[in-house]
Amino acid sequence: MVQMKKILILGGTTEARQLAGILAARAAVTLSLAGRTESPVAQGVPVRSGGFGGAKGLATYLGEAGIDLLIDATHPYAARISANAAQAARMVRVPIFALRRPGWEPVEGDRWTDVDTVGDSVQALGPAPRRVFLALGRQEVAAFEAAPQHHYLIRSVDPVEPQLAVPDASYLLARGPFREPDERALLREQRIDVVVSKNSGGAATYGKIAAARALDIEVIMVRRPDLPDVPSAETVEALAAIVNQFGVDHLVEPAAERGV
Ligand code: NAP
Repeated sequence: MVQMKKILILGGTTEARQLAGILAARAAVTLSLAGRTESPVAQGVPVRSGGFGGAKGLATYLGEAGIDLLIDATHPYAARISANAAQAARMVRVPIFALRRPGWEPVEGDRWTDVDTVGDSVQALGPAPRRVFLALGRQEVAAFEAAPQHHYLIRSVDPVEPQLAVPDASYLLARGPFREPDERALLREQRIDVVVSKNSGGAATYGKIAAARALDIEVIMVRRPDLPDVPSAETVEALAAIVNQFGVDHLVEPAAERGV
């Protein structure tokens, strides 16, 4: 007889969903989403949605829900929730692991201009009108109203509302993964001459980067934010293995030892 332990996975990524599916076989897994996406894909495990109210709120949730292990599997640019997770875990002494997908590295033929923030990418476009593909979140694209001289092609999962206050923008609704041949066709058809991207890492959104390289198009790459230093793995499989290993000693206790 074993007692199922409780794992909270902070998600909003494909990997979080995959990890939840794997871990659900041996633990009571809840997946947490920020609640921004209007129709998130089915996650396959119980989901809670919406912010916790900062690190303190998350710490309270961890205590009240009796969470035994916290996993931060949020997007690499979701820096606030990752910082909150590390802090909350410390506050209530709940172990934490993170899934830290490695970023992309430039390869021969890439024309990347690295910038620190989305705001800096607006400046990096320069003064002359260009045809820009914005592969960014809908909350981030508003910054480009500061450079209304460009044409923007904006792709997002949910509609950008309100639309950008610029004279020339078109909108595409789509959810990845995006394959390189399709991305190449899109960049060509739309006569894109610069792509603005985050360095998300992973295969699902790399297609546009490879396509830009093939077409000799500049990519303005927004650097990754700093994330807290917590024990981590780079892939779903590696993290699942760590959790399972950890579980042998800590997560799965014989019921008899717990007096039940
Ligand atoms: P963020 O700036 O780090 O977080 C802002 C606030 O949103 C957090 O303080 C927290 O509110 C809430 N929050 C974020 N992730 C949450 C989660 N998984 N569960 C519950 N509350 C969460 O995050 P973001 O960049 O807005 O990203 C929001 C979500 O979208 C994340 O789940 C992330 O994995 C996903 N996502 C982000 C990106 C990106 O480029 N940023 C791309 C793809 C997916 P409280 O402080 O009130 O707890």
